[in-house]
Amino acid sequence: MPRTLEELAAELANCRRCALCETRTTVVVGVGNPSAEVMFIGEAPGRQEDLGAEPFIGAAGQHLNELLSLAGLTRSEIYIANVLKCRPPENRDPQPVEIEACSPFLREQVRAIAPQIIVTLGNFATRFILRTDRGISGLRGQIHITGPFSVLPIYHPAAAIYDRLKQPLLEDDFRLLGRLIETRRAERAERLKRSKSINSIEPVEQTNFCMISASPEETQAIGARLAVLLKPDDVLLLSGDLGTGKTEFAKGVALGLGISEAVSSPTFNLLLVHQLPTGALPDGIAGPNTDSKLPHSLYHFDLYRLETSDQLTDLDYFRLLEDGAISLVEWGDRFSDALPKDYMLIKLSVLEDGRHQLGFSAVGQQSLARLVEWQAANE
Ligand code: SF4
Repeated sequence: MPRTLEELAAELANCRRCALCETRTTVVVGVGNPSAEVMFIGEAPGRQEDLGAEPFIGAAGQHLNELLSLAGLTRSEIYIANVLKCRPPENRDPQPVEIEACSPFLREQVRAIAPQIIVTLGNFATRFILRTDRGISGLRGQIHITGPFSVLPIYHPAAAIYDRLKQPLLEDDFRLLGRLIETRRAERAERLKRSKSINSIEPVEQTNFCMISASPEETQAIGARLAVLLKPDDVLLLSGDLGTGKTEFAKGVALGLGISEAVSSPTFNLLLVHQLPTGALPDGIAGPNTDSKLPHSLYHFDLYRLETSDQLTDLDYFRLLEDGAISLVEWGDRFSDALPKDYMLIKLSVLEDGRHQLGFSAVGQQSLARLVEWQAANE
């Protein structure tokens, strides 16, 4: 079950997963807007942060606050966390074993906040987020796309305190961040407009058929078999009351796509991102998906807590649906009028004899084609 920021903070408070717990004064979890559009990720707490239990409050933090204004941001709008939550003695570099122990917390923070833009400050954060060995000098000043995130590597603000030649580069990068934010906002507004006009078009014909499952394992197996047919930008809307098997079906789809990490309902997160392994499909499930372009991720949305369809734009839903991933959308039927009209709808229900029924239909050309393949695979 994905955890909230509060639950994470409670576990971190007593964390002893690595040796830094012996030398720290406090655990520095992170601070800021829990729904931030932009998340900053630094390296590790320094002396001031270790004493104050908050990231970026020393000289580097003061410098960061000044630079933020160049991007049109204030500290209260962003969220800041570090790769390591405890201070390494004498501010030495983080050790690989410490990063390995602490990084699951950062991953959970990113999932909980679901920012649109991640700014990595310095080498360690950049290498961790972009999964690269390249140094910050060769990566800064460019926007990198990883999964649903735009990532902007920037020198650590402390670097410019010791090396004034870096100051103009830092300022350029914060101005670039401001332009990136504007671009992403304009894209979201455009997508919202487009989705509204798409939705005024009559959907193409639907085809319907049902399958019966006698157990959660069977529901998973059905999901896994369907996953083999899926292609980039396919959208599956899962509908059905609690207990009808939506999450079991989602687990099956994830298994079929070769995702080994645990898949659970994203109820508290709105969106969970599962990166697909290279090659996307596991051995033994070669399947008919022979396109050279394979999906890069599985996006698992849960719209249960959304109150209005306008919030879909804040979630960046419309961009994510067309960025080459596969999307599973639980409770998506609540907002089907506001969604782009191309999705496979899977209605789950419990029959009187306790077995589960899965009804499949499609709206839109791409999903209809997938449904026809799926129906043929089950004949
Ligand atoms: S650095 Fe991270 S893993 Fe190590 S003790 Fe601190 S919180 Fe735990």
